[in-house]
Amino acid sequence: MVDNRLFGVVFSLSVMEFLERITEIALSGAGICQEDAEEFVRLGPERIFQVLPYSERIRRHFKGDEVSLCSIVNAKSGLCGEDCTFCAQSVRYNTGAPTYPMVPAEKIVETALEARRWKAREFSIVTSGTKVAKKEDVATLERALRLMKEKAGIERCASLGILDKETLKRLKEAGLESYHHNLETSRSFFPKVCTTHSYEEDVQTVRAAKELGFYVCSGGIFGLGESWQDRIELAMTLRELDVDSVPINFLNPRPGTPLEGARYLTPRECLMIIALYRFILPQKSIIVCGGREVNLRDLQCLIFAAGANGMMIGNYLTTYGRPPEEDLRMLEDLGLKPRK
Ligand code: SF4
Repeated sequence: MVDNRLFGVVFSLSVMEFLERITEIALSGAGICQEDAEEFVRLGPERIFQVLPYSERIRRHFKGDEVSLCSIVNAKSGLCGEDCTFCAQSVRYNTGAPTYPMVPAEKIVETALEARRWKAREFSIVTSGTKVAKKEDVATLERALRLMKEKAGIERCASLGILDKETLKRLKEAGLESYHHNLETSRSFFPKVCTTHSYEEDVQTVRAAKELGFYVCSGGIFGLGESWQDRIELAMTLRELDVDSVPINFLNPRPGTPLEGARYLTPRECLMIIALYRFILPQKSIIVCGGREVNLRDLQCLIFAAGANGMMIGNYLTTYGRPPEEDLRMLEDLGLKPRK
Protein backbone atom coordinates (compact mmCIF):
# COMPACT_ATOMS: atom_id res chain seq x y z
CA MET A 1 0.00 0.00 0.00
CA VAL A 2 1.49 3.37 -1.07
CA ASP A 3 0.66 5.98 1.63
CA ASN A 4 0.37 8.77 -0.89
CA ARG A 5 -2.50 10.92 0.21
CA LEU A 6 -4.28 13.49 -1.91
CA PHE A 7 -7.41 15.14 -0.60
CA GLY A 8 -7.33 12.60 2.27
CA VAL A 9 -7.57 9.66 -0.16
CA VAL A 10 -4.97 6.90 -0.03
CA PHE A 11 -3.59 6.22 -3.50
CA SER A 12 -3.64 2.44 -3.43
CA LEU A 13 -1.28 0.38 -5.57
CA SER A 14 -4.05 -2.10 -6.42
CA VAL A 15 -6.24 0.75 -7.65
CA MET A 16 -3.38 2.05 -9.78
CA GLU A 17 -2.82 -1.44 -11.23
CA PHE A 18 -6.55 -1.73 -12.00
CA LEU A 19 -6.57 1.71 -13.66
CA GLU A 20 -3.43 0.86 -15.64
CA ARG A 21 -5.05 -2.35 -16.90
CA ILE A 22 -8.36 -0.81 -17.98
CA THR A 23 -6.54 2.17 -19.51
CA GLU A 24 -4.58 -0.21 -21.75
CA ILE A 25 -7.90 -1.78 -22.81
CA ALA A 26 -9.36 1.65 -23.58
CA LEU A 27 -6.23 2.78 -25.44
CA SER A 28 -6.59 -0.28 -27.68
CA GLY A 29 -9.84 1.32 -28.82
CA ALA A 30 -12.13 -1.24 -27.23
CA GLY A 31 -14.21 0.01 -24.32
CA ILE A 32 -14.06 -1.73 -20.97
CA CYS A 33 -16.44 -4.61 -20.24
CA GLN A 34 -19.41 -4.69 -17.87
CA GLU A 35 -17.41 -6.25 -15.00
CA ASP A 36 -14.60 -3.70 -15.24
CA ALA A 37 -17.15 -0.88 -15.44
CA GLU A 38 -18.79 -2.16 -12.25
CA GLU A 39 -15.40 -2.38 -10.53
CA PHE A 40 -14.60 1.14 -11.78
CA VAL A 41 -17.71 2.64 -10.18
CA ARG A 42 -16.94 0.79 -6.94
CA LEU A 43 -13.86 3.06 -6.68
CA GLY A 44 -16.31 5.82 -5.83
CA PRO A 45 -16.19 9.56 -6.67
CA GLU A 46 -13.78 10.15 -3.76
CA ARG A 47 -11.07 8.49 -5.90
CA ILE A 48 -11.64 10.73 -8.91
CA PHE A 49 -8.26 12.45 -8.46
CA GLN A 50 -6.55 9.08 -8.84
CA VAL A 51 -8.63 8.39 -11.96
CA LEU A 52 -8.07 11.71 -13.80
CA PRO A 53 -4.52 11.03 -15.09
CA TYR A 54 -5.81 7.86 -16.79
CA SER A 55 -9.03 9.26 -18.27
CA GLU A 56 -7.09 12.24 -19.59
CA ARG A 57 -4.54 9.92 -21.23
CA ILE A 58 -7.35 8.16 -23.14
CA ARG A 59 -8.98 11.44 -24.19
CA ARG A 60 -5.70 12.88 -25.38
CA HIS A 61 -4.83 9.65 -27.26
CA PHE A 62 -8.03 9.70 -29.33
CA LYS A 63 -9.06 13.37 -29.30
CA GLY A 64 -5.85 15.34 -28.72
CA ASP A 65 -6.09 18.77 -27.10
CA GLU A 66 -8.82 20.19 -29.29
CA VAL A 67 -12.25 20.79 -27.76
CA SER A 68 -15.45 20.55 -29.83
CA LEU A 69 -17.77 23.39 -28.95
CA CYS A 70 -21.43 23.13 -29.85
CA SER A 71 -24.32 25.50 -29.40
CA ILE A 72 -28.08 25.29 -29.77
CA VAL A 73 -31.19 27.32 -30.54
CA ASN A 74 -34.53 26.55 -28.89
CA ALA A 75 -36.42 26.88 -32.17
CA LYS A 76 -39.85 25.81 -30.85
CA SER A 77 -40.50 25.91 -27.12
CA GLY A 78 -42.87 24.38 -24.61
CA LEU A 79 -46.27 22.84 -25.22
CA CYS A 80 -44.87 19.29 -25.42
CA GLY A 81 -47.41 16.54 -24.71
CA GLU A 82 -44.78 14.17 -23.35
CA ASP A 83 -44.19 13.77 -19.58
CA CYS A 84 -40.39 13.53 -19.21
CA THR A 85 -39.93 14.13 -15.48
CA PHE A 86 -36.99 16.52 -15.87
CA CYS A 87 -38.39 18.70 -18.63
CA ALA A 88 -39.65 22.25 -18.21
CA GLN A 89 -41.18 22.15 -21.70
CA SER A 90 -43.81 19.53 -20.92
CA VAL A 91 -47.34 20.97 -21.03
CA ARG A 92 -48.11 18.72 -18.06
CA TYR A 93 -45.98 20.74 -15.65
CA ASN A 94 -46.48 24.34 -14.58
CA THR A 95 -42.91 25.55 -15.04
CA GLY A 96 -43.25 29.00 -16.55
CA ALA A 97 -40.97 27.93 -19.40
CA PRO A 98 -41.34 30.03 -22.58
CA THR A 99 -43.86 28.70 -25.10
CA TYR A 100 -43.65 29.69 -28.76
CA PRO A 101 -44.09 28.06 -32.22
CA MET A 102 -41.27 27.48 -34.73
CA VAL A 103 -39.14 30.60 -35.08
CA PRO A 104 -38.38 32.00 -38.57
CA ALA A 105 -35.45 30.51 -40.51
CA GLU A 106 -33.67 33.88 -40.37
CA LYS A 107 -33.73 33.82 -36.56
CA ILE A 108 -32.16 30.34 -36.58
CA VAL A 109 -29.38 31.48 -38.95
CA GLU A 110 -28.76 34.62 -36.88
CA THR A 111 -28.26 32.46 -33.76
CA ALA A 112 -25.97 30.12 -35.71
CA LEU A 113 -23.78 33.07 -36.77
CA GLU A 114 -23.61 34.21 -33.13
CA ALA A 115 -22.50 30.71 -32.11
CA ARG A 116 -19.88 30.76 -34.86
CA ARG A 117 -18.48 33.97 -33.41
CA TRP A 118 -17.97 32.07 -30.15
CA LYS A 119 -16.01 29.39 -32.00
CA ALA A 120 -18.81 26.82 -31.90
CA ARG A 121 -18.03 24.08 -34.40
CA GLU A 122 -21.51 22.63 -34.44
CA PHE A 123 -24.94 24.24 -34.14
CA SER A 124 -28.12 22.38 -33.32
CA ILE A 125 -31.70 23.38 -34.08
CA VAL A 126 -33.78 22.00 -31.21
CA THR A 127 -37.56 21.76 -31.04
CA SER A 128 -39.84 20.66 -28.21
CA GLY A 129 -42.43 17.99 -28.82
CA THR A 130 -42.51 14.28 -29.68
CA LYS A 131 -41.55 15.19 -33.27
CA VAL A 132 -41.72 17.96 -35.86
CA ALA A 133 -44.79 17.11 -37.91
CA LYS A 134 -46.24 20.29 -39.44
CA LYS A 135 -45.38 20.73 -43.14
CA GLU A 136 -44.67 24.44 -42.65
CA ASP A 137 -42.26 23.68 -39.80
CA VAL A 138 -40.33 21.17 -41.91
CA ALA A 139 -40.20 23.78 -44.70
CA THR A 140 -38.82 26.38 -42.26
CA LEU A 141 -36.12 23.92 -41.16
CA GLU A 142 -35.16 23.14 -44.78
CA ARG A 143 -34.85 26.84 -45.50
CA ALA A 144 -32.77 27.44 -42.33
CA LEU A 145 -30.43 24.57 -43.22
CA ARG A 146 -29.92 25.87 -46.77
CA LEU A 147 -29.21 29.38 -45.47
CA MET A 148 -26.81 28.04 -42.82
CA LYS A 149 -24.97 26.03 -45.50
CA GLU A 150 -24.68 29.22 -47.56
CA LYS A 151 -23.83 31.70 -44.81
CA ALA A 152 -22.85 30.22 -41.47
CA GLY A 153 -19.89 27.88 -42.11
CA ILE A 154 -20.83 25.81 -39.12
CA GLU A 155 -21.76 22.12 -38.87
CA ARG A 156 -25.52 21.65 -39.02
CA CYS A 157 -27.24 19.50 -36.43
CA ALA A 158 -30.84 19.16 -35.35
CA SER A 159 -32.80 17.59 -32.50
CA LEU A 160 -36.39 17.32 -33.69
CA GLY A 161 -37.74 14.28 -31.85
CA ILE A 162 -38.86 10.86 -33.07
CA LEU A 163 -38.65 11.67 -36.79
CA ASP A 164 -39.54 9.26 -39.60
CA LYS A 165 -37.01 8.34 -42.29
CA GLU A 166 -38.74 10.41 -45.00
CA THR A 167 -38.45 13.64 -43.02
CA LEU A 168 -34.86 12.82 -42.02
CA LYS A 169 -33.99 12.28 -45.71
CA ARG A 170 -35.57 15.62 -46.71
CA LEU A 171 -33.57 17.46 -44.05
CA LYS A 172 -30.39 15.66 -45.08
CA GLU A 173 -30.91 16.85 -48.65
CA ALA A 174 -31.37 20.39 -47.29
CA GLY A 175 -27.97 20.19 -45.61
CA LEU A 176 -28.47 18.52 -42.23
CA GLU A 177 -25.31 16.61 -41.25
CA SER A 178 -25.82 15.50 -37.64
CA TYR A 179 -28.88 14.26 -35.82
CA HIS A 180 -29.19 14.48 -32.05
CA HIS A 181 -31.60 12.25 -30.14
CA ASN A 182 -30.89 11.34 -26.54
CA LEU A 183 -31.93 8.04 -24.99
CA GLU A 184 -31.85 10.03 -21.74
CA THR A 185 -31.20 7.08 -19.41
CA SER A 186 -31.01 3.27 -19.33
CA ARG A 187 -33.81 1.12 -20.78
CA SER A 188 -34.36 -0.22 -17.23
CA PHE A 189 -34.83 3.21 -15.65
CA PHE A 190 -36.67 4.90 -18.55
CA PRO A 191 -40.23 4.03 -17.36
CA LYS A 192 -39.48 6.16 -14.26
CA VAL A 193 -38.54 9.11 -16.52
CA CYS A 194 -41.16 9.00 -19.27
CA THR A 195 -44.42 7.09 -19.72
CA THR A 196 -45.72 8.75 -22.91
CA HIS A 197 -43.41 7.08 -25.41
CA SER A 198 -41.29 3.93 -25.37
CA TYR A 199 -37.52 3.59 -25.10
CA GLU A 200 -37.64 1.52 -28.29
CA GLU A 201 -39.04 4.50 -30.23
CA ASP A 202 -35.97 6.51 -29.20
CA VAL A 203 -33.63 3.61 -30.04
CA GLN A 204 -35.26 3.24 -33.49
CA THR A 205 -34.82 6.98 -34.14
CA VAL A 206 -31.09 6.66 -33.41
CA ARG A 207 -30.87 3.56 -35.61
CA ALA A 208 -32.71 5.32 -38.49
CA ALA A 209 -30.37 8.32 -38.32
CA LYS A 210 -27.33 6.00 -38.36
CA GLU A 211 -28.71 4.07 -41.34
CA LEU A 212 -29.20 7.34 -43.25
CA GLY A 213 -25.53 8.21 -42.72
CA PHE A 214 -25.95 11.04 -40.22
CA TYR A 215 -23.29 11.81 -37.61
CA VAL A 216 -25.36 10.69 -34.64
CA CYS A 217 -25.27 12.41 -31.29
CA SER A 218 -27.06 10.54 -28.49
CA GLY A 219 -26.51 10.55 -24.77
CA GLY A 220 -28.37 11.22 -21.57
CA ILE A 221 -29.16 13.20 -18.50
CA PHE A 222 -27.78 12.19 -15.12
CA GLY A 223 -29.13 12.88 -11.65
CA LEU A 224 -32.67 11.70 -12.41
CA GLY A 225 -32.46 9.13 -9.61
CA GLU A 226 -30.77 6.47 -11.77
CA SER A 227 -28.20 4.08 -10.28
CA TRP A 228 -24.58 3.60 -11.35
CA GLN A 229 -25.77 0.33 -12.93
CA ASP A 230 -28.21 2.38 -15.05
CA ARG A 231 -25.37 4.70 -16.05
CA ILE A 232 -23.29 1.71 -17.20
CA GLU A 233 -26.31 0.22 -19.02
CA LEU A 234 -26.90 3.45 -20.98
CA ALA A 235 -23.24 3.63 -22.01
CA MET A 236 -23.32 0.00 -23.20
CA THR A 237 -26.51 0.67 -25.22
CA LEU A 238 -24.90 3.72 -26.87
CA ARG A 239 -21.83 1.61 -27.68
CA GLU A 240 -24.00 -1.10 -29.20
CA LEU A 241 -25.77 1.55 -31.35
CA ASP A 242 -22.32 2.88 -32.34
CA VAL A 243 -23.34 6.51 -31.89
CA ASP A 244 -20.66 9.04 -32.87
CA SER A 245 -21.01 11.57 -30.09
CA VAL A 246 -22.35 11.33 -26.54
CA PRO A 247 -23.76 14.43 -24.85
CA ILE A 248 -23.65 14.23 -21.05
CA ASN A 249 -26.22 16.42 -19.26
CA PHE A 250 -26.50 16.84 -15.51
CA LEU A 251 -29.92 17.56 -14.03
CA ASN A 252 -30.59 21.19 -13.23
CA PRO A 253 -33.86 20.66 -11.31
CA ARG A 254 -36.61 22.84 -12.82
CA PRO A 255 -39.35 24.32 -10.62
CA GLY A 256 -42.74 22.78 -11.36
CA THR A 257 -41.37 19.52 -12.74
CA PRO A 258 -41.61 16.23 -10.76
CA LEU A 259 -37.82 16.50 -10.22
CA GLU A 260 -37.84 20.07 -8.84
CA GLY A 261 -36.70 18.78 -5.45
CA ALA A 262 -34.04 16.42 -6.80
CA ARG A 263 -30.59 16.80 -5.28
CA TYR A 264 -27.78 18.03 -7.41
CA LEU A 265 -25.02 15.57 -8.21
CA THR A 266 -21.72 16.30 -6.48
CA PRO A 267 -18.99 17.70 -8.76
CA ARG A 268 -16.86 14.55 -8.18
CA GLU A 269 -19.82 12.30 -9.09
CA CYS A 270 -20.16 14.27 -12.36
CA LEU A 271 -16.45 13.83 -13.12
CA MET A 272 -16.70 10.10 -12.33
CA ILE A 273 -19.62 9.76 -14.78
CA ILE A 274 -17.60 11.48 -17.53
CA ALA A 275 -14.58 9.26 -16.80
CA LEU A 276 -16.76 6.11 -16.80
CA TYR A 277 -18.06 7.06 -20.25
CA ARG A 278 -14.52 7.71 -21.55
CA PHE A 279 -13.45 4.21 -20.43
CA ILE A 280 -16.56 2.55 -21.96
CA LEU A 281 -16.60 4.67 -25.16
CA PRO A 282 -12.88 5.53 -25.59
CA GLN A 283 -12.99 6.69 -29.21
CA LYS A 284 -16.26 8.61 -29.15
CA SER A 285 -16.83 12.33 -28.71
CA ILE A 286 -18.01 13.04 -25.17
CA ILE A 287 -19.63 16.46 -24.90
CA VAL A 288 -20.62 17.99 -21.55
CA CYS A 289 -23.87 19.91 -22.03
CA GLY A 290 -26.74 21.00 -19.76
CA GLY A 291 -26.26 21.47 -16.02
CA ARG A 292 -22.46 21.88 -16.28
CA GLU A 293 -22.19 25.11 -14.34
CA VAL A 294 -24.69 24.36 -11.54
CA ASN A 295 -23.46 20.80 -10.92
CA LEU A 296 -19.70 21.07 -11.40
CA ARG A 297 -19.25 24.61 -10.05
CA ASP A 298 -15.51 25.26 -9.57
CA LEU A 299 -14.54 21.81 -10.86
CA GLN A 300 -15.82 22.53 -14.41
CA CYS A 301 -12.28 22.80 -15.77
CA LEU A 302 -11.63 19.14 -14.82
CA ILE A 303 -14.19 17.79 -17.32
CA PHE A 304 -11.45 17.40 -19.95
CA ALA A 305 -9.14 15.51 -17.58
CA ALA A 306 -12.13 13.30 -16.80
CA GLY A 307 -12.33 12.50 -20.51
CA ALA A 308 -14.66 15.00 -22.18
CA ASN A 309 -13.46 16.44 -25.49
CA GLY A 310 -16.31 18.89 -25.97
CA MET A 311 -18.85 21.12 -24.29
CA MET A 312 -21.93 23.13 -25.07
CA ILE A 313 -21.44 26.89 -24.93
CA GLY A 314 -24.02 29.65 -24.69
CA ASN A 315 -27.53 29.19 -23.37
CA TYR A 316 -29.41 25.94 -22.86
CA LEU A 317 -33.03 25.31 -23.89
CA THR A 318 -34.77 27.05 -21.00
CA THR A 319 -31.85 28.10 -18.77
CA TYR A 320 -28.83 30.35 -19.21
CA GLY A 321 -25.28 29.11 -19.69
CA ARG A 322 -22.37 31.19 -18.50
CA PRO A 323 -20.89 33.81 -20.91
CA PRO A 324 -19.00 32.01 -23.73
CA GLU A 325 -15.95 34.20 -23.22
CA GLU A 326 -15.50 32.61 -19.78
CA ASP A 327 -15.48 29.15 -21.38
CA LEU A 328 -12.98 30.22 -24.06
CA ARG A 329 -10.71 31.66 -21.35
CA MET A 330 -10.98 28.39 -19.38
CA LEU A 331 -9.80 26.46 -22.47
CA GLU A 332 -6.92 28.90 -22.94
CA ASP A 333 -5.94 28.52 -19.28
CA LEU A 334 -5.95 24.71 -19.73
CA GLY A 335 -3.81 24.90 -22.87
CA LEU A 336 -6.70 23.50 -24.92
CA LYS A 337 -8.12 25.05 -28.09
CA PRO A 338 -11.49 25.05 -29.81
CA ARG A 339 -11.61 22.49 -32.58
CA LYS A 340 -11.93 24.16 -35.98
S1 SF4 B 1 -37.61 16.12 -23.24
FE1 SF4 B 1 -38.47 16.49 -25.25
S2 SF4 B 1 -40.06 14.93 -25.45
FE2 SF4 B 1 -39.60 15.08 -23.26
S3 SF4 B 1 -41.07 16.55 -22.43
FE3 SF4 B 1 -39.20 17.67 -23.00
S4 SF4 B 1 -39.55 18.43 -25.06
FE4 SF4 B 1 -41.03 16.79 -24.65
